[in-house]
Amino acid sequence: MSFDHLLSPLRLGTLDLPNRVVMGSMHTGLEDADDDVPRLAGYFAERARGGAGLIITGAYAVNAEGRLEEGAGDIATDDRIDAHRPITDAVHAEGGRIALQLIHAGRYGRHAASVGASSMKSPINPFQPRALTTEQVWQVVDDFAAAAVRARAAGYDAVEIMASEGYLINQFLAPRTNDRTDEWGGSAFARMRLPVEIVRRIRAALGPDFPIVYRISLLDLVDGGQTWQETVELAQALQAEGVTAFNTGIGWHEARIPTIITQVPRGAWLRYTRLLKAAVDVPVCASNRINTPQLADDAVANGDADLVAMARPLLADPAFVAKAASGRADEINTCIACNQACLDHGFSGLETSCLVNPRACRETVWTIRPATRRRSVAVVGAGPAGLAAAVTAAERGLAATLFEREQEVGGQFRLAMEVPGKEDFADTLRYFRRRLEVLDVDVRLSTTAEPADLEGFDEIVVATGVRPRLPQIPGIDHTKVASYADVLAGRVTPGERVAVVGAGGIGVDVSHWLTHDPKEDLDGWLARWGVDPTLTRPGGLTEPRPHDPSRRVTLLQRKATAIGKGLGKTSGWAHRAVLGQAGVRLVPGASYERIDDHGLHVVVDGVSRTIEADTVVVCAGQESVRDLYEALVAAGRTPHLIGGAELAAELDAKRAIAQGTSVAAAL
Ligand code: NAP
Ligand code: SF4
Repeated sequence: MSFDHLLSPLRLGTLDLPNRVVMGSMHTGLEDADDDVPRLAGYFAERARGGAGLIITGAYAVNAEGRLEEGAGDIATDDRIDAHRPITDAVHAEGGRIALQLIHAGRYGRHAASVGASSMKSPINPFQPRALTTEQVWQVVDDFAAAAVRARAAGYDAVEIMASEGYLINQFLAPRTNDRTDEWGGSAFARMRLPVEIVRRIRAALGPDFPIVYRISLLDLVDGGQTWQETVELAQALQAEGVTAFNTGIGWHEARIPTIITQVPRGAWLRYTRLLKAAVDVPVCASNRINTPQLADDAVANGDADLVAMARPLLADPAFVAKAASGRADEINTCIACNQACLDHGFSGLETSCLVNPRACRETVWTIRPATRRRSVAVVGAGPAGLAAAVTAAERGLAATLFEREQEVGGQFRLAMEVPGKEDFADTLRYFRRRLEVLDVDVRLSTTAEPADLEGFDEIVVATGVRPRLPQIPGIDHTKVASYADVLAGRVTPGERVAVVGAGGIGVDVSHWLTHDPKEDLDGWLARWGVDPTLTRPGGLTEPRPHDPSRRVTLLQRKATAIGKGLGKTSGWAHRAVLGQAGVRLVPGASYERIDDHGLHVVVDGVSRTIEADTVVVCAGQESVRDLYEALVAAGRTPHLIGGAELAAELDAKRAIAQGTSVAAAL
């Protein structure tokens, strides 16, 4: 694989890009405090070293009212310029190029001073915006231009105007949020005046060649959004004002159609990038759900896009481009679009990182050092925790041996990748398998390690994982009862009527597995979510067309709280919506009475009910498997216990991989 199209150079104004890979903008939280600048510089420097063609920073506000939240990063005054120099210097020292993203959050600003095209409140923000006056809008235009000039003074090679995902510029463009009667509202022409004036003013301030990237909203995916025709007219008007390239975004943050999470098919939005590319003469950059060099190369080769933005994939693997360019694409640590450690953290005020790469955003504070002497390490269990431990130990120069009872590595991840929309999880296992090979780890599959097998090792890491919990419900040994592991591994074929006991992440996933249409293609996916194939309707929306599920599924939990409440911050709503599309009946507050030939008998709100079921699938969490650990301790050894074997509750791959990595880093 040579990825010649993706790796070919491109000129953007004054800027020569060595390849078409753009590290898209992503807010890490490190943008907000000057103390974090060294970490941010280290984070970007590692991506520049890894070959990214162009890096785009997280969003910086052009004025105080436009900040994402109180204390969020801005470039609103000249005294901010110096704070950015360590970032641009670090990237340039690695031979990279970096653009500053300029934002005005408008009504998405989570603070009392937020403003908007109108005073209409966003459904996803409790703060009420104040409508900008006519003069204040002109001030916003000036503020964008001044911020762009500061960006150049700080050493940035380009600026990107953030005008997708529903921020202020979109709020002016769309009738949904723009009910103005002055020169900034009314006709489509007047609604697009704000971005046109911003680009005109920035171009005048920066001269004819400085690269200005405009991130356009290809599809708003909200009622009252722009029409496709308006989007094309806007792009052409902006091109005439001197935009150097278009980056693309899909859907406002308040849209109820998923655009980037795992269940969105890879490359789902390329058809729209292609249409925009046909309508303009400047380069167009694709984004969203492109996470492999092959897919990105195909996008360029097929004429869908000139560049490809990948934010999360470069969070997951800073050396993405270097590996693709040196014939090591199979060593790329692929982003699995889970959002668990990046966006979910960002939107919860936690430090951003990456599930598959826990060093992300900690590059300068978490160095994994070579071992001082080559000691031997036995890792038992090749789930995510054990895999991370074995690979990290080997990377440090330790002699690692990995024992796995099953015929293949992967543990719970092998089950997860059977869930519709989680196929990308297979790439994580491909990555680990390849790393084990490259690092020459002694992998012993189909081997149950006993204490005697571990005697000669200097260190032992026990990552023996979990087993599904079997709740004490009368009739639990009925032939119609199966565990989620049996179902996802294909050992049991469920009937047409299914009761799912336990509505955590796995219960929700299994319900999706039971009801999805395995033949659904991209057109079907877009139709199910209500994306208008004709592109004639505002916002690109049409009536959703749910499929007819082949099974009738009831999902139950004992808690009285809403089902799916504990799912990921940025993805839970979409998982819950999928259950609704498939007609899955949700029963919280259930007390399980018994299982028999009729199905599952429960009491809900004091009333007895029978959930008629051919199959009862148990998704009631897990218990740690610690037999080996306890035997080793009894024998006087001091093994390290990690992953689900240490703590089954809240078991997830994020904790498992981070813990495996840090335990092995400290051996
Ligand atoms: P979980 O999230 O802990 O859910 C276990 C479910 O079983 C709960 O609904 C619980 O609800 C029920 N339960 C617990 N003990 C029970 C008992 N004795 N009898 C009957 N029901 C019982 O565990 P999981 O679903 O197995 O998921 C494991 C981990 O994988 C999660 O922590 C999550 O991080 C991760 N995961 C996440 C996702 C996602 O976010 N999309 C998907 C898959 C997995 P009640 O106690 O109310 O009945
Ligand atoms: Fe990708 Fe998940 Fe890592 Fe985010 S946390 S970068 S979505 S793998």
